[in-house]
Amino acid sequence: MPELPEVETVRDGLEKWVSGRVVASVDVRHPRSVRRHLAGSADFASRLPGRGLGIAQRRGKYLWLPLDDADEALLAHLGMSGQLLLRAVAEPEERHLHVRIRFADDGPELRFVDQRTFGGLLIDELVPTPDQPGDLVPSLIAHIARDPLDPAFDEDDFLTRLRGRRSGVKRALLDQSLVSGIGNIYADESLWRARLHGARPTAALSRPRLRGLLSDVRVVLAEAIGAGGTSFDALYVNVNGQSGYFSRTLAVYGRAGLPCLRCGTAVRRVAFMNRSSYFCPRCQRPPRL
Ligand SMILES: [Zn+2]
Repeated sequence: MPELPEVETVRDGLEKWVSGRVVASVDVRHPRSVRRHLAGSADFASRLPGRGLGIAQRRGKYLWLPLDDADEALLAHLGMSGQLLLRAVAEPEERHLHVRIRFADDGPELRFVDQRTFGGLLIDELVPTPDQPGDLVPSLIAHIARDPLDPAFDEDDFLTRLRGRRSGVKRALLDQSLVSGIGNIYADESLWRARLHGARPTAALSRPRLRGLLSDVRVVLAEAIGAGGTSFDALYVNVNGQSGYFSRTLAVYGRAGLPCLRCGTAVRRVAFMNRSSYFCPRCQRPPRL
């Protein structure tokens, strides 16, 4: 599943290759990909032609392009397997091509390809963000917190709210109303870097310790974005989902039984919220029950 670094790579590609262009036509092949546009696929397809697309933006794992009159935006979520690809108009169609957007300049078109169809596109109204009313955000995602790389992320407020949670620290990191953009993989990587076990209660951790964890989260996300950027290519607005995953350099995630890169102890995997958590039992001591 794409996490923040992959989605940021897509945002960067959209900004380079799509922002500033005017839509000529929209072809919805699979209505499920626009199911969250409640007025229906015909309405979705009719509202974009003739409109210019603004600077690509991101909140958590959502992406949007403001439309030229700036009161609404084209909003995208990649779900499990969604890709936004830039393709020459004449190129053969992908098997799971669900939405095609052509431009007035006749340049490469934008294709939404999604094998598992959990992702989707819609047109949504832009509303002021609760914390910075000058910033506009699609209404559907106004409740999602900023991510730690957002310049307007309020670090002190985040640390106060984090310490106020009565939960384990990993569960708190995954709570999108507290902080966005940290999925399962990067939560495990950040906790390993901070030498913290994910089950440690946030209330029992000092503010400096949590500030250190936040700093580790930022390093992990920034490194992953850097890695995503290197595989960028003009044909893929997105990095290809699969190859993007292989290029990740992970310290603990998916490495059960392999030696911890810091101390050599075998990495352990435990079940966590229908998924898995990976940690080094020596560097990241579980809390005493
Ligand atoms: Zn270790």
